[in-house]
Amino acid sequence: MRLLERLKAMGFLRSEKVYRAMLRVPREEFVPPPYRDLAYEDRPLPIGYGQTISAPSIVAYMTELLDPDKGMKVLEVGTGSGYQAAVLAEIVAPSDEPRSEWGHVYSIERIPELAEYARRNLERTGYADRVTVIVGDGSKGYPPEAPYDRIMVTAAAPRIPRSLEEQLAPGGRMVIPVGDSWDQTLILVVKTRDGRIIREPRLPVLFVPLIGEEGWPY
Ligand code: SAM
Repeated sequence: MRLLERLKAMGFLRSEKVYRAMLRVPREEFVPPPYRDLAYEDRPLPIGYGQTISAPSIVAYMTELLDPDKGMKVLEVGTGSGYQAAVLAEIVAPSDEPRSEWGHVYSIERIPELAEYARRNLERTGYADRVTVIVGDGSKGYPPEAPYDRIMVTAAAPRIPRSLEEQLAPGGRMVIPVGDSWDQTLILVVKTRDGRIIREPRLPVLFVPLIGEEGWPY
């Protein structure tokens, strides 16, 4: 597919596992019908309720930075359309691997109608058994399934929520945009095996706000 070749050439796509996952997950199934013709353009698209599905280049970049692997437990904050959750699921629970080796994706969304939209998209594309969509305030994480090997946040927080760092397993990684509407940076958070936290700024980005108790006020 031309889009993925372009993302490779631009350096957003680097690994075979992320390339294969993005090749397998049909982005057009996660885009509202009026925008389907644009599903393979490298741009964010509206999904209703003032929210967006991220551009493929940012999905590729964030997934590469997160570096998920088969069998891992992942938390995504900000389900939106469910597309990023499906890409993560295709890596931690590949369609062609036995279920006994599958990991799982927990994805939390604050807008109930979007959570329902994502559930339907994941059901139709065959990912419903690998992704659990929860309605709630993901700025506080999702304690019932913690700790997580990987956490991906797809909305911008004013600062890194303490709850999310706490719910990261030793040896875990988190990718999170931090900043206001004008100035955001994608941060890679690594928790070492002995529990130390390392935070590395990586890329200027533009995301909708993370709204919640450990995010921006409503
Ligand atoms: N990952 C999504 C996808 O693949 O379509 C795109 C996510 S969109 C850029 C950000 C999402 O974060 C929105 O759907 C928004 O409602 C959600 N959100 C914002 N604050 C939240 C919070 N505290 N908890 C959970 N979801 C939140």
